[in-house]
Amino acid sequence: MRYSGFKVIKEALTGHKGWQPAWRDPAPQPHYDIIVIGGGGHGLATAYYLARQFGQHRVAVLEKGWIGGGNVGRNTTIIRSNYLLDGNEPFYEFSMKLWENLEQDFNFNAMVSQRGVLNLCHTDAQRDAMRRRGNAMRLNGVDAELLDTEGVRRMAPFLNFESARFPIKGGLLQRRGGTVRHDAVAWGYARGADARGVDIIQNCEVTGFRIENGRVKGVETTRGFIGAGKVGVAVAGSSSKVMGMAGMRLPIESHVLQAFVSEGLKPVLPGVITYGAGHFYVSQSDKGGLVFGGDIDGYNSYAQRGNLPVVEDVCEGGMSLMPMIGRARLLRMWGGIMDMSMDGSPIIDKTHVEGLYFNGGWCYGGFKATPASGWAFAHLLATDTPHSTAKAYRFDRFLKGLMIDEKGMGAQPNLH
Ligand SMILES: Cc1cc2nc3c(=O)[nH]c(=O)nc-3n(C[C@H](O)[C@H](O)[C@H](O)COP(=O)(O)OP(=O)(O)OC[C@H]3O[C@@H](n4cnc5c(N)ncnc54)[C@H](O)[C@@H]3O)c2cc1C
Repeated sequence: MRYSGFKVIKEALTGHKGWQPAWRDPAPQPHYDIIVIGGGGHGLATAYYLARQFGQHRVAVLEKGWIGGGNVGRNTTIIRSNYLLDGNEPFYEFSMKLWENLEQDFNFNAMVSQRGVLNLCHTDAQRDAMRRRGNAMRLNGVDAELLDTEGVRRMAPFLNFESARFPIKGGLLQRRGGTVRHDAVAWGYARGADARGVDIIQNCEVTGFRIENGRVKGVETTRGFIGAGKVGVAVAGSSSKVMGMAGMRLPIESHVLQAFVSEGLKPVLPGVITYGAGHFYVSQSDKGGLVFGGDIDGYNSYAQRGNLPVVEDVCEGGMSLMPMIGRARLLRMWGGIMDMSMDGSPIIDKTHVEGLYFNGGWCYGGFKATPASGWAFAHLLATDTPHSTAKAYRFDRFLKGLMIDEKGMGAQPNLH
């Protein structure tokens, strides 16, 4: 069933009897050509592009809970492609271009809203660094504008300009950045994949791999063994646990990240604003809630809930950037599990087990990557070669010291 304005009107006039479930609820088949583990954004996008782009239809997505229950439905919905390094920028720009056409592509309203992402700077050195990043973006053909203090004031007059401990010196603006309704991304990809023959199997936890003579033969699940020619793992925060079942220890740690939503307010924020003197980022949802977040909780955990000291830290960041936020009441908050890689950049690669592939290490920035990650992982699974924009996302960069470290302050595993 295709969705359209005409269809909505027709259903409204006929008692809404014609809507069908957006995807099937199939029983697992004994064998698939490709199994994707994880029904988050990345797993579902992978299945969608496997079917739509690479003609693979004997594909299953195995999800231990319900689709959209992981980070894809828990993030603060920000999309952008304002990266500095060559290993990252073309990949995230590829993702941005896919976002721009996504709703027409999978025929689902994901509320892609390019209302701009503004990164604030508070020192001269920080402004120099932003100028460098903006120039790197432009060299890669990506839009970037450097604003001075007055430019920021025109966009967001409610920020703390006057009595701030860290005065606002300007900001780097990417107008094509913005937000997307996060769980609709999971639903849209699921519906699009299902329509092309992919089996999306929920409540099916992978509990082990069957590996014979160095080759993966399938997976053990809570619904029995399922055979597969190839298996792709895209389980985000559970990466270390799942790959541990295949005997691999990853350069990844899992941490909790929290998100917060205020009560609904009249439109006030022009787009996404990030604080440069603390870890705080905020946007406003279409329902009016201020959606914001900050730093990870800082200890390893697989719990999807956070701790109170970080709540305090995030709220302090908000108060110092835009004191008016203190008048809004916090409506709800939650946590998700981040798969933090050692250099902050992802991994999309084969493993030493034939037929077993890995996608992870998305840290707290994987939502914006969803379309490109799905496409690149599908490319790898279908063709056994990396996609041109994801060639740098290999495991062996940690061995060789070829880190893709945007912040320039990560661990150097090759030196130890
Ligand atoms: C609070 C918060 C804010 C964030 N904000 C942003 C943001 O603004 N912008 C941005 O770009 N990124 C953001 N992120 C990061 C982003 O959400 C993640 O990097 C991304 O969603 C991870 O990929 P995914 O969608 O595939 O993960 P998930 O949705 O977590 O999918 C993984 C799935 O694997 C399943 N799974 C795990 N183990 C098994 C198993 N054994 N068998 C079967 N299934 C299994 C899980 O149940 C889960 O559904 C944020 C994350 C959080 C938590």
